[in-house]
Amino acid sequence: MPCPACGKDPPGTAWKPDPLRWDLDPPCFRQEWEYVAALPGAPDYVVENDFSLHMNNVCRGCYSERLNIAVKIREKIRERGGLEELNPTKQIRQEYEAAHAFDKRVGRPAKIHSMQSEAGKALNGKLGRLKEKDKESMRWTVELLDGTLKAIREDNLECSKAIDDEHDMEKAKMMRNGYSQESMQPPEAKRPLGSQTTWQKVKGLHPGAVVRLKGLTGATELNGRKGRCISFDPEAGRWKIDLGDGYKNIKQDNLTPAPNEKPPTKASAEADKADLNFEENRRSKLTEQERAAEDYGWDG
Ligand SMILES: [Zn+2]
Repeated sequence: MPCPACGKDPPGTAWKPDPLRWDLDPPCFRQEWEYVAALPGAPDYVVENDFSLHMNNVCRGCYSERLNIAVKIREKIRERGGLEELNPTKQIRQEYEAAHAFDKRVGRPAKIHSMQSEAGKALNGKLGRLKEKDKESMRWTVELLDGTLKAIREDNLECSKAIDDEHDMEKAKMMRNGYSQESMQPPEAKRPLGSQTTWQKVKGLHPGAVVRLKGLTGATELNGRKGRCISFDPEAGRWKIDLGDGYKNIKQDNLTPAPNEKPPTKASAEADKADLNFEENRRSKLTEQERAAEDYGWDG
């Protein structure tokens, strides 16, 4: 029978499932396909064809060719921060997250492992965020939690949902302990600040923005928790904050933008609480001197 992709009838070919067959192993979703097609330098195949064009089985030659295309599409998407650019629906986001649970991509937390050199061994187990990938050396620039940049081979990096959460928690702890450094400052907000805003204009604070709570003297158990800005009440001077497990009205001074973090969910709220409680209990058992030593690195 002739190959449905090239129309030839190669004798003795091993028929293989089309690598571009979305119901088998989707290289991307429709939005991603369209997104890639709109990029400058997009692969011809993506520009010239429709998203849903695929066959069941193709000849071996077509298989190799199309596998290559699928890889290119994946790379294009991952190098640019994945689905985040696309403003996806909830369902697409869930499907995407399941399909890309272990992907390395720009902006994602990662953990360093299996470094062999003497200097590298000290980095094993460290958490950071992927900044960019050098294609030739296959190394990622990783920003560690303390802001240091390291160039790490892709093979020595691991990404997963658990690592995402671990990274967010570690970072929250640092912010809660008043850790402040140039590199920990939120990056410039992408969207221009509107003139119609009723809140005091601060980069990274707007409806939908992800934040961390800090400096609360009443409900201190909320310090360090992650939230999402819903709306600002100009009369009360407070933001309505979605904490994942409920809403609170919080003054703007008690919010720190966390533009690189994912919005809170019920699960992340539970994880936050467990971790912050643990930290609180531990700290409450320390003497004042021990706390000062931890906070400032001296014992006077
Ligand atoms: Zn063919």
